[in-house]
Amino acid sequence: MSMTWDSFSAQFESQEGGIDLREEFATILTDHGYNIFLRRRLDQFCPYYDFSSKQCDKRMCEYCNGSGYIYMDYKLKTYRKLGFNLEAGPDRELWSPVGLLGPHRNVFYFEFDVKPLLTDRILEVTLNNAGEPVLAYNIEKVFDVTSVHAYREKKGRIEYYAVIADEIVTGV
Ligand SMILES: [Zn+2]
Repeated sequence: MSMTWDSFSAQFESQEGGIDLREEFATILTDHGYNIFLRRRLDQFCPYYDFSSKQCDKRMCEYCNGSGYIYMDYKLKTYRKLGFNLEAGPDRELWSPVGLLGPHRNVFYFEFDVKPLLTDRILEVTLNNAGEPVLAYNIEKVFDVTSVHAYREKKGRIEYYAVIADEIVTGV
């Protein structure tokens, strides 16, 4: 079941206090993050969408990849590490409303302005010689977002997101 959760921190008050979690998080991404593509489904049907069967008519469709919806790929930095919790320190287990996250779950962290959606997918791709992903070609792993956690400071400002995602097997 897909869900969205909000977590409030009683400790952190980023706007007035000395610590800005958004800034801290941006530094962590710069130092330890890597590039992925976030595949976001647009609210627009593929040109080959068949309204009677409610699916795309084309095999190996380049517009929708079989989903029936046109999508956009956004190159973003993320941080993927199990047991990472910005507030508790890097080696603490991540607590979530779905319980302690075991090793079978993948947790991706994103900056506050990404606003991950439950319909997003995360693509890990082959990198070029400079270590940069160029396009969403050579997809190595695809992760389906199963829950989105917004981490907020005391007054409610979102500091970062944690996304739990399951790897899916694709035909691409
Ligand atoms: Zn299509």
